[in-house]
Amino acid sequence: MTHPEVIVVGAGPTGLTLANELGLAGVRTLVLERTLRRSGQSKALNLQPRTAEMFDLRGWLDPLADRALTALPWGHFAGIALDYGALDTRFPYQVGIPQARVEGFLEDRLAAQGVPVLRGHELTGFAQDAGGVSVTAEGPGGARAFRAAYLVGADGGRSRVRKELGVGFPGRDARVSLAVADVELEDDPALPTEWRPPPFEAGHGPTAALTPLGDGVFRFVFGGVPYADVPRDAPVTEDEVRAALNTGPGHHPRLRALRWGSRFTDASRQAESYVDGRVLLAGDAAHVHLPAGGQGLNLGVQDAFNLGWKLAAVVRGRGPEGLLGSYHDERHPVGAAVLENTRAQGALALPDVDARAVRAVVADLLSGPEANRRVAGLISGLDLRYPMPGAPAHPLLGRRLPRLRLPAGRGLLLGPDASPLRGWADRVDWSPAPDRVLVRPDGYVCWAGGGEGAPEGEGPEPALRRWFGAPS
Ligand SMILES: Cc1cc2nc3c(=O)[nH]c(=O)nc-3n(C[C@H](O)[C@H](O)[C@H](O)COP(=O)(O)OP(=O)(O)OC[C@H]3O[C@@H](n4cnc5c(N)ncnc54)[C@H](O)[C@@H]3O)c2cc1C
Repeated sequence: MTHPEVIVVGAGPTGLTLANELGLAGVRTLVLERTLRRSGQSKALNLQPRTAEMFDLRGWLDPLADRALTALPWGHFAGIALDYGALDTRFPYQVGIPQARVEGFLEDRLAAQGVPVLRGHELTGFAQDAGGVSVTAEGPGGARAFRAAYLVGADGGRSRVRKELGVGFPGRDARVSLAVADVELEDDPALPTEWRPPPFEAGHGPTAALTPLGDGVFRFVFGGVPYADVPRDAPVTEDEVRAALNTGPGHHPRLRALRWGSRFTDASRQAESYVDGRVLLAGDAAHVHLPAGGQGLNLGVQDAFNLGWKLAAVVRGRGPEGLLGSYHDERHPVGAAVLENTRAQGALALPDVDARAVRAVVADLLSGPEANRRVAGLISGLDLRYPMPGAPAHPLLGRRLPRLRLPAGRGLLLGPDASPLRGWADRVDWSPAPDRVLVRPDGYVCWAGGGEGAPEGEGPEPALRRWFGAPS
């Protein structure tokens, strides 16, 4: 490959989504990944409805759904079920699919595009200057040097890119250590056959924490012990899993084999800035939190959809002033809101009588349709609204426009005629419609005609300039 224009560090769901978006928009992209092969770990098990919509935007949802294990008409808040049937979407359910399968699909798409993923290459350092970023990585054959115009750290919660940048990562340290493991269990009619909201309350039996993955394999989440009691990198052992399976009331399944295990915590931190010159952060590299409600992968994938088209435009020299900065401005508050709600969920799980009392009140409230819709809208990602400075007020502004198919990197003008696109037709498509709406490549409305307070006859030109650059 000639010099890449963007180097993405990390072939997790965030980096792979971003690399696909960049590649499809014609950007020469290279992914560096330190592991030699995908771990196969079933970390995230779900695509939230908004992520499903975004994958559908590019035509990827159907093939992903073919790899899914189930579809769940509910979400949850601290284990309290939310009815997703109330959501206004074509996909009022979580797609139940292990993270490794999502990664596998995205990596296959990259291979089909010819975007290289250099496995076994660990970023060890970088330096940025006015013209680009020089990167060093340790590969199977020793140290290697790369150069690109931009570098994106999608390298997970312990991000080397974030640490080297020295960007602040304020928040709260871990208090609790938990473990997750894929386990093979002895045949047993008492084992769960369906997915359920995870047990957040203390005092449940082990079967409540088991999610069936097929072929006698279950995902088992356990622990909840003080963080100081367990070294972060201590391997999860068979003895430990066996002991956890024997803890608590009810049935005690028997372990046949431990496939893999790993530890996670309730640490809650967010990078102060997602953009520093030519270096950007996305996904867990930018935010870590308790994986409560099933949001982390989804948040990272949506970071990637927000960033991809913006970075592609900037690389092409068509990015208007402030476009990359809008990635931070839009996504930082979304990440902060997820940190807030996951901390709230963690507090509801505390093993004390007062937390249990608050939990009972919250469960009661969530059984009402309005509260259910509000919280389901939050956790599903559907209620997101980006501020669109400078655009006249309109109910659609900043909101997603579902039911679209958009090519990566291209916007869409809906309206009675295409004439406003003179000068932008190389970046924005037109589709006939009675209402006039301008949609960004990530599916969010950045201008809508005829809104409240809109000057008579004002067209989409200011929004076209703001989001798509000067006309050609
Ligand atoms: C037990 C558990 C359950 C979870 N459940 C859910 C869920 O149900 N739903 C949900 O949405 N989320 C869930 N999550 C969170 C989700 O797994 C993460 O948010 C997601 O993996 C983040 O993706 P990422 O691509 O940003 O980072 P990662 O998946 O961490 O990927 C980072 C990649 O970067 C690579 N890397 C790191 N350093 C370097 C380097 N120096 N050079 C090169 N490569 C490097 C790593 O090897 C890795 O492949 C869960 C997490 C855990 C632990």
